[in-house]
Amino acid sequence: MKRKLLVKLLLLLCVFGYQNADAQIFKKKKKNTEQEANKPSKDKIQPYNKVITKDAKSDAGLFTTHVVDENHYFEIPDSLFNKEMLMVSRISKTASGIGFGGGKINTQVLRWEKKDKKVLLRVVSHDVVAADSLPVHEAVVNSNFEPVLFSFDIKAIQKDSINPTTVIEVNDIFTKDTKAFGMPDRYRKRYKVSRLDEGRGYIESIKSYPLNVEVRHVKTYLASNPPSNSTLGSISVEINNSMVLLPEEPMKRRYFDERVGWFARGQVDYGLDAQESKTIKFLDRWRLEVKDEDIEKFKNGELVEPKKQIVYYVDRATPRKWVPFIKQGIEDWQTAFEAAGFKNAIIAKEPPTVEEDPEWSPEDVRYSVVRYLASPIPNANGPHVSDPRSGEILESDINWYHNVMTLLRNWYFVQTAAINPAARGVSFDDEVMGRLIRFVSSHEVGHTLGLPHNMGSSVAYPVDSLRSKTFTKKYGTAPSIMDYARFNYIAQPGDEGVALMPDIGVYDKYAIQWG
Ligand SMILES: [Zn+2]
Repeated sequence: MKRKLLVKLLLLLCVFGYQNADAQIFKKKKKNTEQEANKPSKDKIQPYNKVITKDAKSDAGLFTTHVVDENHYFEIPDSLFNKEMLMVSRISKTASGIGFGGGKINTQVLRWEKKDKKVLLRVVSHDVVAADSLPVHEAVVNSNFEPVLFSFDIKAIQKDSINPTTVIEVNDIFTKDTKAFGMPDRYRKRYKVSRLDEGRGYIESIKSYPLNVEVRHVKTYLASNPPSNSTLGSISVEINNSMVLLPEEPMKRRYFDERVGWFARGQVDYGLDAQESKTIKFLDRWRLEVKDEDIEKFKNGELVEPKKQIVYYVDRATPRKWVPFIKQGIEDWQTAFEAAGFKNAIIAKEPPTVEEDPEWSPEDVRYSVVRYLASPIPNANGPHVSDPRSGEILESDINWYHNVMTLLRNWYFVQTAAINPAARGVSFDDEVMGRLIRFVSSHEVGHTLGLPHNMGSSVAYPVDSLRSKTFTKKYGTAPSIMDYARFNYIAQPGDEGVALMPDIGVYDKYAIQWG
């Protein structure tokens, strides 16, 4: 027993003596263990190459995005901190029963902010304002403290004299239950969602374009009342978060007037010369500006081309024979912009082929696209994304569902076959269907220009005028294509040469000119 103790003591002394004898090694050793201990805690800023390794798959754009193993990184140029970005979230894929894939679920203005060793993602509100020249501005700012949505540890820094960048890892914000990026409350309530099942979620893709970053992630929620597959007790959705850089200089606003129908947004202004705060409304519209060199011409009533044209691309997936008709429907709006002093304000194009431009994508916010979707839904819709500060429409993708043709066939048959031999059949000639597609294309594009439905339009013309060839050839069958006026079911056999459907009408031209 005594001997054992002695051996232990000797051993201890030996170790102690060794440490003292070689303090250098001891120090080095300690440093090593410290590093090892810190590695998994992830909160140290590391050299850039250690984080974004040679194996990284990178995509350059607004932010450069990287994937290393399972980790996704945003490399944020420091010049983009504190800039406002618009986040639009959509359900891009879903089980049947939740509604159309592509439906918008949330829109928010965000701001990335660098603070010490962290990057904060804050939510900016544009609901309440006052001009910053006014004393009340401070009160508005104070009562509008921007909530922090997420906080990221900085992983690495790229020191560059021209374009320094900051790297953060973003897995958590897309895989954890961040409400602003996931399923909205109204669906959670409806399907009785209890919680997110993180084990059944993943990041599908992160892509970067010059002005936007697109993230797709799949989330599975436990739900006691799912819309379909009720035995599963859960619901899976693919969510698309689209983050768009807002323009440096907001567009000049056009204030809403209830006498002209426009999509408009509201804002509470405390800076107006009134004794109470007032909600002001302004239009969602495209930024059409006269080129500096054309201002004189424009003032003299000459038609001029805008600085930036509105361009719609027709999806590559569209059946060839319908492409010319969809294009016509888009460019039909030129007459309305001519009333506002612009020529070629809106044009239709076909996207470059994959060989011509492999980078081209309908997801790129710089391109507005009429997307052709192989879906049995008999419909089409025309949503748009606009700058909450000014109402400037930034882009719009029209969703065109293949079976909209079923709807058109049925309407045209029921409403016009009595006087129209071309509508007497189960399937129409391509030329006839093409004309109907052009009509729907114009209607949907009208929505994306800022025009809502105008249901008053269908009662504007006297019934007997709708039987007149001269009247309908000049004015169409309704003053607005934004009505659900459909086709001319008033015309009777013998009303030769009467028009059968509305065109861009007198009201539409007036509305575009005013807006
Ligand atoms: Zn509509």
